[in-house]
Amino acid sequence: MLPSAGPSAGQPSARRFDLAIVGGGLAGASLAAALSTSPLSIALVESAPPPVRPEGWDARIYAVSPANAAFLGKIGAWEHLAHARIAPIAAMRVFGDLGGELGFSAFETGVSELGWILESSLIACELWEGIKRQANLTRFCPASPEALEIRPEAATLTLTGGERLSARLVVGADGRDSWVRAQTGLKAVTTCYGEKGVVANFTTEQPHRGIAWQWFREDGVLAYLPLPGERISIVWSTPDEHADALCALSPAALAERVAQAGGHVLGRLTTITPATAFPLRLIRVPEIVQHRLALVGDAGHGIHPLSGHGVNLGFQDARILAELLLKTPAWQDIGAERFLMRYARARKEEILLMQRTTDALRRLFRAGTLAFPLLRNAGLALANRVSPLKNLLARYALGAL
Ligand SMILES: Cc1cc2nc3c(=O)[nH]c(=O)nc-3n(C[C@H](O)[C@H](O)[C@H](O)COP(=O)(O)OP(=O)(O)OC[C@H]3O[C@@H](n4cnc5c(N)ncnc54)[C@H](O)[C@@H]3O)c2cc1C
Repeated sequence: MLPSAGPSAGQPSARRFDLAIVGGGLAGASLAAALSTSPLSIALVESAPPPVRPEGWDARIYAVSPANAAFLGKIGAWEHLAHARIAPIAAMRVFGDLGGELGFSAFETGVSELGWILESSLIACELWEGIKRQANLTRFCPASPEALEIRPEAATLTLTGGERLSARLVVGADGRDSWVRAQTGLKAVTTCYGEKGVVANFTTEQPHRGIAWQWFREDGVLAYLPLPGERISIVWSTPDEHADALCALSPAALAERVAQAGGHVLGRLTTITPATAFPLRLIRVPEIVQHRLALVGDAGHGIHPLSGHGVNLGFQDARILAELLLKTPAWQDIGAERFLMRYARARKEEILLMQRTTDALRRLFRAGTLAFPLLRNAGLALANRVSPLKNLLARYALGAL
């Protein structure tokens, strides 16, 4: 069992848990939910109030891979989702800036859909509904830690109100600017892309037929993602200045600009949620564990959103760490570095591969770089004709490299 976390003079004694998760975003919340049947006692510390559904449509949309839909199903967070709010992806069409084209469909790839598009808050609220009822979990929300002390036998978090929590393992699931990571020796190498991801939702004049579109343009990468009905969501990764200019447009002007950039493939667009922009960064964290500590989700890696895999990597972190913890005998010290290295080893390859592939694609098609226009457009056309390469790209799109 957890050794005593005795108070120093004048400090209140710490409440003891086996596991403390800092951050209840999609990575942290799915980890907690995946451990609902484990005997571990869990503390979840989240600085923001529990998620709520916005009026209308959420501007933050995710492409969830089939592997992660299965994971969400296993932890009970998929079947109760409002399926009328989820759009299956039937096909993808990718265009270069000189007309190169690559397309693949679920049918060709041998799956029933390439993935699903759904709103971030839809999954977040569903995960939190489960967490509220989870018997082995205590929520500290809204609450933030202000100190983390790592000792050989336990880690202790001190919350802003002075409450102390000790745990055999602390998991940092607190996003790309992770406070937990900053308290430890785990270094992050950050590359700012000088770009932002502009997101907004639109209704379309013509049906999208479940197709996700992506254009590698001189001014960045624009994706149309199908939403239920005649609606789409866009992510336009583009240099800061252009992103700010897009956000400053009137709804009508934005809709026309986005329709034009996509060659009016879906006819006229009408803006239904205003554009917002997020700065884009590549974050490499060479070590994601140390004694009594592990990182999941964006706290452990950040990638360019052109592939739409950020959240998929976070779900897989949660799945793999939870599987390891679930099959661990009670005598095992779950915070021992040697034990945690199994998690780090299991995640290393996929994270590195996704970061490298996405970064290479982004460099090849970098906004404003015309160094390889023929190569990249010819490359798309070639990939479209060569089955193994096309299958590889389809697997990349599915998050199953
Ligand atoms: C424009 C854009 C588009 C994207 N599109 C996609 C996409 O299509 N598909 C995809 O897979 N991914 C996408 N991503 C990436 C995706 O948003 C992230 O990968 C995902 O949200 C990471 O989840 P997380 O739980 O690790 O972190 P977060 O979502 O950042 O959650 C961290 C949580 O920790 C809490 N927290 C932070 N600090 C503290 C603290 N000190 N104490 C307590 N709690 C704390 C926060 O309140 C938050 O709830 C996109 C990202 C951007 C910027």
